[in-house]
Amino acid sequence: MFDTFTASQRHEIMASVRSEATAPELILRHALWHNGFRYRINDKRLPGSPDIVLPKYRTVLFVHGCFWHGHANCSRFTIPKTNPEYWSAKISHNKQRDQEVWRQLESKGWAVIIVWECQLKKTIRKETVANVCDEIINNGVLYYKEKEERKRAREVYRNEIRVKQERRAFLLKMSKGLV
Ligand SMILES: [Zn+2]
Repeated sequence: MFDTFTASQRHEIMASVRSEATAPELILRHALWHNGFRYRINDKRLPGSPDIVLPKYRTVLFVHGCFWHGHANCSRFTIPKTNPEYWSAKISHNKQRDQEVWRQLESKGWAVIIVWECQLKKTIRKETVANVCDEIINNGVLYYKEKEERKRAREVYRNEIRVKQERRAFLLKMSKGLV
């Protein structure tokens, strides 16, 4: 397909394809913005360059096309009758990659929300957005709590160290007959 393009043209085309947001992605972005959420988009520093990144809530979102990402039990996902083996292999490969990305993000402490394209169709969009907003807020609360817990654990640890040091210093003085 790209045979007639030079390497740099090819690169440009691929780059524009990658950075172009899909309509469902834009719908979700706008809805989140209107609900007061601020985010980064296509953050390449994170595994899978998530579509939407909310650092404050330690949450990333992917808007998945039902066909390309193999949305189970969805009418938008049916394997084409022509060349079915090719398509099932391709889509199961995509799903495996999605899971790997998900695992990597979670291991870095990110909560992952998948929004399917079909969940953003007009009739159910409002409900989907409301659920997504709730989930983001919950993730934020959990993240904040974990942060506080880590902070407390660090303080406890520092305290223990200090007590040990003081005891050691006291014992040393005692052994030298200074106390
Ligand atoms: Zn779907």
